[in-house]
Amino acid sequence: MRLRVLAAGLILMGCIGNPARAQSTHSNPWAPTELGPLPPIASLTDGVWLKGDLHLHSRHSKDSSNNSEAKIIHFAESVGMDYICITDHDNHVQGDVAHNTWTDPEFKSDSVLLLYGAEWTTTRGHGNAFSARPYDHQRLYDVRDQRDIVVGAVKKELGIHLSANHPSGKDHFGFSYDMVDSIEVWNSAYWSKNANAIMIWDDMLSSGRKLTGRGGSDSHHGIPDSPELAGKNTSQRQANYVGTPTTWVFAKKRTLQSVVDALTNGRVAVSANPYAPRVEFYADLDQDGKMDMMMGDNTKPTGKAVTFRVQLTGNTVAGAAYTIHIVKDGNPFNTLQATGGKTTMVEFTDTPNIVGRTYYRVEVEGPPTAYPQVPGSTALNGNRVGLSNPIYFNFDPNF
Ligand SMILES: [Zn+2]
Ligand SMILES: [Zn+2]
Repeated sequence: MRLRVLAAGLILMGCIGNPARAQSTHSNPWAPTELGPLPPIASLTDGVWLKGDLHLHSRHSKDSSNNSEAKIIHFAESVGMDYICITDHDNHVQGDVAHNTWTDPEFKSDSVLLLYGAEWTTTRGHGNAFSARPYDHQRLYDVRDQRDIVVGAVKKELGIHLSANHPSGKDHFGFSYDMVDSIEVWNSAYWSKNANAIMIWDDMLSSGRKLTGRGGSDSHHGIPDSPELAGKNTSQRQANYVGTPTTWVFAKKRTLQSVVDALTNGRVAVSANPYAPRVEFYADLDQDGKMDMMMGDNTKPTGKAVTFRVQLTGNTVAGAAYTIHIVKDGNPFNTLQATGGKTTMVEFTDTPNIVGRTYYRVEVEGPPTAYPQVPGSTALNGNRVGLSNPIYFNFDPNF
């Protein structure tokens, strides 16, 4: 659909002066369309869960402090991150991220995959670019004040994943969501900033966009490691850092490209921190007890009941109550309770409508998981444990 909208725009531009033709080419991009065959659902076992942070600022961002790339990367290694993306503001380095963030000799790690990216920082809003390889970020920077159709074409040519950052608030994302692959639904440990982001996500999903929700700490300041820095801005440094929140991706392999692909296809969950449980969400389409889909997957409904499974994997608190909110098409659908333990799992059943689009997603509340390296973060996130991406029915695979 993204490509189709851009193409429709080109046709309209070519038709200026011919209103009759322009009118006939207009179509409502949100109207339901006849679906062709959907791609087969990928294997649920052929892959690996990888955790990381997709929004980090180093000393190459002018509004950052005490935060060298070495500091970020060593910290990420120490808390077991699998990947990160250092996303310095391009306008602080005149777009030339390639000769700043990526060529810094500190941009290396033996254990953490380092995505190539930057925060595209424009007057119409901020977005993160993610790539498995260096790309010509200057080109994206150069078109920052141009129309969506121009930006979208450059993004496509560069082959990057573009993601809307902090979609509500002062630097809200003011471009079309047709040209992005994901949206930052959980920015930093300050949960209160995110309520509108979740609402915007539901609006975009409800309008037919298959749009991945992801997290990003957006942390700018290193935790003080020397006595003279203690006391300077320490509340922020100790409350929000690498991993608050943590974005999990189910990647085919442990490679940069597999991380980007998983982000694009939506096999993604967000947890409050690297030690908090991961929200996994599956569906059994034929009631044989074997799960057929996971979050991010899209299929045609059969008209029969589907069993959905929510599983919290990792450090749940034994005996503690977890509240599992099921959202269907943007509205509260069901609230379930699960008890922390070896297997923390609940199931529910529903029959997705055979016509029209339907999606289900999950938010989990419960006791905070300690993150001793960033001690202030647990109070700010409160009881937000994690969230899943949607399972989709009847969504246009090209959207
Ligand atoms: Zn920003
Ligand atoms: Zn940022």
